[in-house]
Amino acid sequence: MAKNITRWSPDTCKCVIDYETDTDKPDDDPIISAVVTACEAHKNLQIGDHLSILLDENRRKNKLLSSIIHNIPSAVEEKVTTQRNTIKKLKPGYQYKWSYNMDRILEVELVGFSTLEKNTIQTLINNRFLNKVIIK
Ligand SMILES: [Zn+2]
Repeated sequence: MAKNITRWSPDTCKCVIDYETDTDKPDDDPIISAVVTACEAHKNLQIGDHLSILLDENRRKNKLLSSIIHNIPSAVEEKVTTQRNTIKKLKPGYQYKWSYNMDRILEVELVGFSTLEKNTIQTLINNRFLNKVIIK
């Protein structure tokens, strides 16, 4: 058994937690071992819920951006990295500005997107993140 403790602070809030992974069980979800700091929004969470809620909020923000990149080719350009991988990113002039409100709903400001592109994104949200994301 090789257990590792990782300290993690998501970019979606100010919580700091320690979680444990086991290198013998790489497919298992990490297990929280300590809440180092709880932010204002998450200070009343039970320890057992803390990691899954932080992960949900962090992944929701990342998945929506990823979904936009995969579904709106007009907003996306390809770039070759220094490691010679091709990555897709938003074109210059397009911005995905996100924040979480007090109810932990993801609020997204879409800069540079056309009405048609915004409508497509609203459909993506309705299909995958109903009541969990609003476009500002
Ligand atoms: Zn937090």
